Amino acid sequence: MMTKEHELLRETVRHFSEKEIKPFAREIDETEGFRSEIFKKIGELGLLGVTVPSQYGGGDMDVLGATIVMEEFGRVCASTALSYLAHSILCVHNLHANGNEFQKKKYLPDLCSGKKLGAMGMTEPGYGSDAIGLETKAIKEGKFYHLTGRKMFITNGTVAQTFVIYARTGKEREVSSFIVEKDFPGFSVGKKLSKLGMRGSPTSELILEDCRVPEENLLGKLHQGLPQMKKTLDVERITISGISLGIAQAALEDSLAYAKDRKQFKTPIIEFQLVQKMLADMYTWLQAARTLTYEAARLSATGKPLSAMASACKVFSAEIATQASLHAIQILGGYGYCKDYNVERYLRDAKLMEIGAGTSEVQRIIIAKELSKLGLH
Ligand SMILES: Cc1cc2nc3c(=O)[nH]c(=O)nc-3n(C[C@H](O)[C@H](O)[C@H](O)COP(=O)(O)OP(=O)(O)OC[C@H]3O[C@@H](n4cnc5c(N)ncnc54)[C@H](O)[C@@H]3O)c2cc1C
Repeated sequence: MMTKEHELLRETVRHFSEKEIKPFAREIDETEGFRSEIFKKIGELGLLGVTVPSQYGGGDMDVLGATIVMEEFGRVCASTALSYLAHSILCVHNLHANGNEFQKKKYLPDLCSGKKLGAMGMTEPGYGSDAIGLETKAIKEGKFYHLTGRKMFITNGTVAQTFVIYARTGKEREVSSFIVEKDFPGFSVGKKLSKLGMRGSPTSELILEDCRVPEENLLGKLHQGLPQMKKTLDVERITISGISLGIAQAALEDSLAYAKDRKQFKTPIIEFQLVQKMLADMYTWLQAARTLTYEAARLSATGKPLSAMASACKVFSAEIATQASLHAIQILGGYGYCKDYNVERYLRDAKLMEIGAGTSEVQRIIIAKELSKLGLH
């Protein structure tokens, strides 16, 4: 449920985003320039470990709180929001949810303050949707695990110091996760990928060549990587929906302002019913996606089955973000197609929302599987 605390959080993050992120958003996109100073400031705000208890330096918020932060960052700069998601949810939330006390005390304070940035490596060059098929191996020798393999499309790969890495520790479904530091021998970062959108969020390959990981860096229990992955993915899919909501919100705000201002045939274009239809659809999609996403966030606190709702809000908000961005370009006409306005960036950024954290096809498969297994619940 939306509380006063959530409202205050939104207000604080809106103010911060307008002042500290929005002025740089276009440059971040054009230059593919990740700005580490923004992350330092988010750390000062206490939000780099948004879902982590304050005893480790976290923000003590729930999944809804994290979603609201994503929404506000996504509204001004989706690239920043995506890197923030990889850090605060895929790495930090994951580490807190699955780590032991020693690991939490060792890693969380630096990750929450911004001294270190985090990332998560699950996807591999040959295993994306079929993430469970991963080939990276972890073999135990003495007090170390030796990790060998490659990870693909890793957000923050080039800027992070602390990685949660999934690797096979046995056969079939025997997968485990590990905390890997950038300086561990055998770990290196591959080339930074150049992308259509989310250009200010660095994406790269990770290379593990007999990478030596101390046994105490096994995250959670041996062979328990898949249930851990599933739980983190549910939270990732809800919180990443916040980024889609932010993009759709920005697309609607820009479209509304432009449609009121722009005149054709001596009439503001907002008075044309075909333009009104686009605005009305954008508003309806956004409200529906927000309600669905917040409901999924609320459900995450109940312990009830979550995957269908997490995937439902992920697929719906991603697809309406793309559609809303397309409408925004249409409403702005030729100007919308040019880089002097932001709406073409919204479209390029929104498209990733239909691919990252599992494609829209995969989300629909998950929903159907849960319905078939558990029925309507
Ligand atoms: C910018 C970016 C950032 C990312 N960040 C991270 C990260 O931080 N960490 C990480 O681990 N991963 C990350 N990823 C990886 C992302 O999760 C994968 O790209 C995604 O899961 C899809 O995998 P794939 O790209 O290999 O596509 P594929 O799995 O090869 O899919 C190709 C196409 O086939 C379809 N398809 C596949 N299987 C089925 C099926 N069974 N039924 C129907 N259709 C199917 C897909 O929907 C898609 O349309 C990132 C990706 C990008 C692009």
